Order: sequence, then C-alpha cells, then structure tokens
Amino acid sequence: MRYDVAVIGLGGMGAATLSHLARRGVHCIGIERFERLHENGASHGESRIIRKAYFENPAYVPLLERSYELWRELQATTDRKLVDFVGILMVGEPGCEGIAGTLRTAKQWNLPLDEFDAKQIARRFPGTMPRPAEVGLLERQAGIVFPEPALDAHLNVATQHGAEMHFSNGVERWEKHDGAHRLTLADGTVVVADKVAVCPGMWASKLLAELELPLRVQRNVQVWFEPHTNHFDRGVFPTFFIERLDLPGPLYGFPAMNGTMKAAFHRFGETVDPDRIDRRIRDDDVTIVGNALDEWLEHAAGSYVRGRVCTYTLTPDGNFIVDKHPNDPSVTIACGFSGHGYKFSPVIGEICADLVLDGGTRHDIGFLGMNRFSQSSIRPI
Ligand SMILES: Cc1cc2nc3c(=O)[nH]c(=O)nc-3n(C[C@H](O)[C@H](O)[C@H](O)COP(=O)(O)OP(=O)(O)OC[C@H]3O[C@@H](n4cnc5c(N)ncnc54)[C@H](O)[C@@H]3O)c2cc1C
Repeated sequence: MRYDVAVIGLGGMGAATLSHLARRGVHCIGIERFERLHENGASHGESRIIRKAYFENPAYVPLLERSYELWRELQATTDRKLVDFVGILMVGEPGCEGIAGTLRTAKQWNLPLDEFDAKQIARRFPGTMPRPAEVGLLERQAGIVFPEPALDAHLNVATQHGAEMHFSNGVERWEKHDGAHRLTLADGTVVVADKVAVCPGMWASKLLAELELPLRVQRNVQVWFEPHTNHFDRGVFPTFFIERLDLPGPLYGFPAMNGTMKAAFHRFGETVDPDRIDRRIRDDDVTIVGNALDEWLEHAAGSYVRGRVCTYTLTPDGNFIVDKHPNDPSVTIACGFSGHGYKFSPVIGEICADLVLDGGTRHDIGFLGMNRFSQSSIRPI
C-alpha cells in the first residue's frame, strides 16, 4: 500500500492534518495506535478553553484568527456543536501572567476585553469570591471547544475526501528505503508513503528518539463536580482561569453543563512515562481541585462526580513544536502542545498540510521551530 502522505497519530492534531491533506486531494492515510476517540492521549475530556487575547505570547493571535475561521468552516460540516462562545473570565492580581499577558496581547492586537475590580467581579458574577487585590478580564470572543465531536468532525471530513485510516494499529517500525517511508504497523501491515506527518502527542520523544526533544510529559487530572447552586450554569457563567500564589498552578474551569462543571489545574501534575501512567483518580487529585474551587466559587464543588487523567506534553518554553524534521524534509512534526494546543488544532492541521505539500507555510511559525532548542537545552526538563 503506497500513499503520498501518512499521518502518524490521529489525536487532535493528526485528525486535523489528515482532513486538510484529504481536502487538498492528497492520497493519504492516518494511522492510530488506539481506537477512534480513545482516552489515552490528550484530546479527551469533553471541553477545552478557546480564547484569543493570548497571554502566553501575542505571536499566537494570527494563528488563532485563522483557527476561528477554520472552526466556523468545520462547524458547517456537522450538526454537533463544536464551539460555544460563553466567554472567559481571567482573574488574578494585576501583575500575574494571565492578567498582565492578556492585557498586553489584547492591546497589541486591539482585542476587546471588559475589565473589573474585585467588587465588580463579585457583583457581575454572583457566587464568585475574588480577593480584594484581584482584578478580572472578560473576553467575550472566547469559550469552549468540544474536543470529541471536533476530532470526530475532522476525521469525517478526511473520510469524505478519500483518506484511509487504521485504528488500533500503531506504527511499530519506521524505516526509509529508496526515498520512501516504510511503516510497519502492530498487525504486520506495511504502509509505504512518500511523506510523513508525525503528530504523536506524548509519544513524540519515543517515536522521534533521534531528535532528543526536550519534552516532559505531565499527568493532569480533570475533575467534574455537581455544584450546589445555579450561579455557575452555562448561560450565566463563562469559562474561567484564576491565578493565586497559594495554588499549585492556575485553576481553570467551565460553566456547569448538564448539571456538572469541570475544573483542573493548568501545568500542575507529576512527570510520567507515557507508557506507565496511573489512570486511577486518587483522593488527593479531587480534594486539591475541590479545595481551590471552594475558595473561589461558593458551592461549586458541591459533590464529586468523576475524574479523568489526561496528559500535557511540555516544551521548555511552553510553545509548540511545528516544523520539518531537521534531517529529513519529507517529515513534518507537530508535538509539544504544552497543555494549550487544542483550540489551534484546525490551523495546525492546515500548517502541517502546507509543510508536507509545499515545504513551507504562509503562517508565521518561526517561534515554533525546533532550532530554538540549543544543544544545551535539548534534554528533558
Ligand atoms: C487536562 C487537559 C486540559 C487541556 N486544556 C486545554 C484547553 O483548555 N485549551 C486548549 O487549547 N488545549 C488544552 N489542552 C491541550 C490539548 O488538549 C492538547 O494540546 C491537544 O489535545 C494535543 O493533541 P495531539 O494531537 O498533540 O495529542 P493526542 O491527542 O494525544 O494525539 C496523539 C495521538 O498519536 C497517537 N500515537 C502516538 N504514537 C503512535 C504510533 N506509534 N502509532 C500510531 N499512533 C500513535 C496516540 O495514540 C494519540 O492518539 C489540554 C490538555 C489536557 C490534557
């Protein structure tokens, strides 16, 4: 079986990449080691935040603008809701990363924000408990992406445009012969492709061992509670992101939908080996989130409902890796999404398709290149 392009990994980024390749008429195949829409990677858990006034780095804004357009296009292909613009409320003291960075990016790109002091936050959002020195920023053009229907929609677009897919059949061996990539799958099937897009999530360091990528995989737990109040229902309450020095990391969450609301810490969790992750939910996974929620949203952490383990694949600077393989231009790599990649998945798919087919892209992705890791920083952090 010979293809123009093989995409390794059909999580959020691989599914988007396959859909963009297929839409351009490329003879392509997607290969995934687990079943369709599995829960062993990073693209599950019902909700992801989408926002544009990007505190991490203003350079992401043009990518977000394009992503918003592509989300709208993808939405037109399905009856299931993919994005819900309920807004996001950023909270913290004025100097903290989320507040200062959001303001900086909004100013640079002229993005609208509503600003509140602590008293105004409490008045505008009943049930919140801001501390006196805290301020709030409400970005209305932000909200929720639903990762499972979104991933499914990307795969469906790929299928409709002729892409083939293998599920539960991962790449076990990868060799290059006579200019073609030879991928041997778990069941012995051999796939031959002229080019490869690698979107392996937390397995990047294993699949691309020769690059010694400076990636760290982190176990992150998402926790759902049934609030004992209606103050945080979807329709009255936005998504939120709050930074407090006495928390182990920023706490973020979603409005209550179908009676439950999800919350979690950003960038907090133990470092793990992707093949040896404790997927049980421990008591302290729940209490640490519940206690932080109790200090911010009254009665939100009413009763514990469920938890899910997910993973971040972190780069040293928190920026993604989207680039060509340094030693082989027929290989495109997208990994290291550092716990904030899902909202970008449509534009990452477009960029990967550009890199695979054209060798370059009109999008400004210089800051996502692999050459930013000097030899000395190429080690696990
Ligand atoms: C708890 C949590 C909360 C998050 N919150 C947000 C948020 O609010 N907003 C946001 O934008 N982002 C968020 N993210 C980040 C976002 O979800 C990820 O950046 C994104 O899902 C990463 O997608 P991916 O395709 O790189 O990885 P994955 O979805 O994990 O996909 C990688 C795929 O590659 C497959 N694979 C690996 N090796 C092989 C192989 N050898 N052969 C075949 N297949 C292989 C894997 O099985 C997997 O399916 C969050 C992540 C987590 C964990």
